Amino acid sequence: MLKDKDRIFQNLYNDLGSDVISSQKRGDWINTKEIIDKGRDWIINEIKNSQLRGRGGAGFPTGLKWSFAPKEVGSRPHYLVINGDESEPGTCKDRDILRFEPHKLIEGCLIASYAIQAHVCYIYIRGEYFIDGQKLQNAINEAYEKKLIGKNAAGTGWDLDIYIHYGAGAYICGEETALLESIEGKKGQPRLKPPFPALIGLYGCPTIINNVETIAVVPTILKRGGKWFSSLGKEKNTGTKIFCISGNVNNPCNVEEEMSISLKELIEVHAGGVIGGWDNLQAVIPGGSSMPLIPKDKCETLRMDFDSLVAEKSGLGTAGVVVINKDQDIIKCMARIARFYKHESCGQCTPCREGSGWMWRMLERMAKGEASRDEIEMLEDVTKQIEGHTICAFGEGSSWPVQGLLRHFKDEIKKRNKFDPVVKENKNIPYLVDQHLLDKNA
Ligand code: SF4
Repeated sequence: MLKDKDRIFQNLYNDLGSDVISSQKRGDWINTKEIIDKGRDWIINEIKNSQLRGRGGAGFPTGLKWSFAPKEVGSRPHYLVINGDESEPGTCKDRDILRFEPHKLIEGCLIASYAIQAHVCYIYIRGEYFIDGQKLQNAINEAYEKKLIGKNAAGTGWDLDIYIHYGAGAYICGEETALLESIEGKKGQPRLKPPFPALIGLYGCPTIINNVETIAVVPTILKRGGKWFSSLGKEKNTGTKIFCISGNVNNPCNVEEEMSISLKELIEVHAGGVIGGWDNLQAVIPGGSSMPLIPKDKCETLRMDFDSLVAEKSGLGTAGVVVINKDQDIIKCMARIARFYKHESCGQCTPCREGSGWMWRMLERMAKGEASRDEIEMLEDVTKQIEGHTICAFGEGSSWPVQGLLRHFKDEIKKRNKFDPVVKENKNIPYLVDQHLLDKNA
């Protein structure tokens, strides 16, 4: 269990105040100039040594990402963009940073901007977080008044301006290139990569995009040392992490814990246990709705870190832990998630646009016991035809939860859907039924 002295976010529950004076008492904005005086190579190396991996879902090493920014600023300015779109169902950690620990984020923005040579930083916040965005804006105003940002920010000689940009409610704007399109005032649709944003990003300029939590932990890492951060957790899965625990638990909460904590401890100690007791647990989605679920028998010993979850064919994602107990209809739960992805597909790629709807409609039928047995195989096939065949990772995000259901609850689907295919030789029949349902649901 994480010791209090190693806790980065001491005001996660807003007991101590989020204003600049209270934040300074907790250590924010202390030694910022000394850190920047050590130079950008030292900063990037220290972040590399800490083994910090992005907290937005993909888990890409942060120091390495920063090193992709061009070494010299040419004719195009560099930008830092903070991804606070946070639309993954089951995830609400960045929100608490924006409203209760804004100065950790702003100080992190200054240090990261210096490291990648950006004078302008955009913080992209999902539109629904308007009140939290206002709180962040107040903190930004305070930082300007105290000369912590702006011209000669915090006496470092570096100029930095920070702007908030609100999204308009599309999940896909959390995808980094869709987010850039959205800031540019265009429809939020992902770009084809390469080119990668580090070279051609916002307004065609070199841009580094990081999640809110990733940047908010940077100042503490540099103040306490990369070695301290990497001493927490385990190799390549270091540091602390904010976990969001929701669903069928007695005490849904956000909690900062050591990376690689056991899932059982997270649920039993911090979230008050599963409703109906541990034996009433059915499955857990460990990292936001796009990660495959894990059934109860594997939850007993599961560690919550990037690599342990990949080994279980799932992922840490955003660390949004959704607990599903036996009172829930697991097929219906996954149909609900599939409906969400069908709704949020941006529509650029055919496999994602069409496949997300197929998956949803098949799962709806399976939940009602109206599917034929060969549709199980067909559903699996659809997920495989989406995965890896789209412009962005949304394709994986929509098909992985369905694959998780098929991997662990196929017997349940078979039990409920007992009838044989109506016309075996005509494989198109189920799709015609889909169309029929689509019309009915339109
Ligand atoms: Fe849009 Fe889906 Fe293609 Fe991503 S995978 S670009 S969300 S259609």
